[in-house]
Amino acid sequence: MVTVNGVPGSGRARFVGLLSCGSIWACPCCSSLIRQGRASEVEVGTELWEKRYKGSFLFVTFTLRHKRQDRLKDSLDTLTEAFSATIRGNPWKRFAGRLGIVGQVKATEITWSRSNGWHAHLHVLFFLRSVPSVDAIADADGWLSARWQSMVVKRGGRVPNLRHGVDVRKVTDRQVVGLYITKLQEAKPTAKKRFPVAQELTRIDTKRGRLQSLVPFDLLDLDGLGVEEVQERRELWLEYVTATRGKRAIVWSRSLKELLEVPEVSDDELLEGEAEDEDTVLWAIRRKDWRRIQSDADALVQLLEAVEEERWDLAERVVPCDVGWLEWHNSV
Ligand SMILES: [Zn+2]
Repeated sequence: MVTVNGVPGSGRARFVGLLSCGSIWACPCCSSLIRQGRASEVEVGTELWEKRYKGSFLFVTFTLRHKRQDRLKDSLDTLTEAFSATIRGNPWKRFAGRLGIVGQVKATEITWSRSNGWHAHLHVLFFLRSVPSVDAIADADGWLSARWQSMVVKRGGRVPNLRHGVDVRKVTDRQVVGLYITKLQEAKPTAKKRFPVAQELTRIDTKRGRLQSLVPFDLLDLDGLGVEEVQERRELWLEYVTATRGKRAIVWSRSLKELLEVPEVSDDELLEGEAEDEDTVLWAIRRKDWRRIQSDADALVQLLEAVEEERWDLAERVVPCDVGWLEWHNSV
């Protein structure tokens, strides 16, 4: 049963009982909700790590050298495999032990630019037991750069630049504000601003790259483009959707969530959570009626507005209410 729910008198109503596609990559609606949810997980985790464990963080960006003709799928594969290899084996264990790394959250970001094509890269937030010294950070930068270079090359990628392949930054509140707020295009005046690291990691979909670098959703904005460009955008979007399908955008290292008391929640659960408000079913739509209006955007808007304004006669004209079901539902 599809219903229209809302708090009576609030002037707000929405559809409930619809399926969500659940794509963090390809759906603007789901992506935004999932990323918000993932951002608060990072927020909760980093806060606990700092306050209870007195730990610190390193924010490291891993990039590949890329050219216009490179396929996104190949770049993503190289990126994923090279990173897994980087944090595996005894050399890594020794390095992580030296620096006090207990785990990390890895986020994959993709942008596209006309001059350089796809740019897939990783933002990794490493959780450290204590605050590293300046020397330790310099050491980490050198070690990670060399390690990353060799792992990328082993996996068939172009040789990363030793200076730019890996970017290591110490995270302190003060610096973070300066560093990351400026990179977030969507300035949301919320309490989230206190923890911009969480946003940098998980809400990267809203960030505009430099120059003509586009985030994937920008590809859907066809305003003012010529026929050829529209066709190019179409192909790029399809390539993006195909290459990212089934891939995880944000990955926590094993047992880090447990340590930081962040519950395991699936994307679907995050999307459902959104519908768990204590509101009332105001309108119930029979299946056959729903089929008739489900792709009629005007009818859907009219119905929502009528219910929001509690103009039941108007709503009835768009689609009849299953009164029997509604009475039954509200009595149980
Ligand atoms: Zn969706």
